Amino acid sequence: MIRGEGGCYKLKFYGIMSNQCMQMTTSISCANRCTFCWRGYKAPVSKDWKWGVDDPITIFEESLKAHHQLLVGFNGSATANKTAYQKSKEVRHVALSLTGEPIIYPRMNELLIKFNQNHISTFIVTNAQYPDQIRDLNPITQLYASIDAPTKELMKEVDRPLFPDFWERFNQSLDYLAQKKQRTCVRLTIIKSINDILPEKYAQLIEKGNSDFIEVKAYMHVGPSRERLSQDNMPLHEEVVIFSKQLAQHLPGYEIVSEHIPSRVVMFAKTKFKREGIWHTWIDFEKYHELVNSEKEFTADNYCRRTPAVGLSGTGTLERMPDEVRERYLKERELIFVDEKTEEMDFYKGQETSPSPSLNISK
Ligand code: SF4
Repeated sequence: MIRGEGGCYKLKFYGIMSNQCMQMTTSISCANRCTFCWRGYKAPVSKDWKWGVDDPITIFEESLKAHHQLLVGFNGSATANKTAYQKSKEVRHVALSLTGEPIIYPRMNELLIKFNQNHISTFIVTNAQYPDQIRDLNPITQLYASIDAPTKELMKEVDRPLFPDFWERFNQSLDYLAQKKQRTCVRLTIIKSINDILPEKYAQLIEKGNSDFIEVKAYMHVGPSRERLSQDNMPLHEEVVIFSKQLAQHLPGYEIVSEHIPSRVVMFAKTKFKREGIWHTWIDFEKYHELVNSEKEFTADNYCRRTPAVGLSGTGTLERMPDEVRERYLKERELIFVDEKTEEMDFYKGQETSPSPSLNISK
């Protein structure tokens, strides 16, 4: 984004400016040892929190400092867009995921208050092994739960969980996810020839969690996961699209909305987010902050806005991108508008939302 090369899928799907997004975790420990994880097996694993607890204010301040330090190399870089770099100093979103299981940090709700007060929107990704923490979590902008396999047996193989009652914990987590009032999302990480099966069983689990959104994303062959899986386990974007279409056939309450080819991810939303034929999956951040800081009751319906670009090409990867897909991808990048005089960067400036194309999921 800072180099003007486009944002990540969270920008395209939800309107998060990538250069203003901080990625951090509140716990590097985890109760799983997923085969597809980019962590090594030396990374800490534990069922319970057994360490000291940092103060939420310290975590807030130090993570922002570390984020700025990480990006300081762009200052003065000939390839960086100056405005985009300057803007990166003003963090507007935090993705609490990255590595480990963030939700077990014992003072998470206090940290969330700090982010809310500072108008920083929040995403948390949980492995769905801590149902009570999901139940007790304060409102956040979007809560993710991972569904890494369609059956208990396969989940044991893919996630290698520490908890003997991992399946019960997972199902209880989905029940609590379904009770959340704010935006929720279910994430499927597709590992080719391993968990890309039984879409009808995935669909049953998704319906249990009743999430607002679904992301079906390719496993990425990176980090120590390369010692456990082969490059052939990384699906092409086309394969993610095919699996998504199979899944869509079992999920009447959802439709495929969009894709992000470089990330090999397809996004679904509940049809209630399509208002008068126009998708509203972007987040109205101003509204969210107003609501969350007002302590009024509010729901996912109260802070969404129009999605500027939707649709599915259904084909293409960066490596083997056919011409027409390359063209489409480049067009996507062009949607980031940079004013030549001011170097001001705006995503989708002046773009009208296109009506959703009718997607033929049977193809
Ligand atoms: S739950 Fe997440 S952090 Fe934990 S092992 Fe699995 S992928 Fe890695």
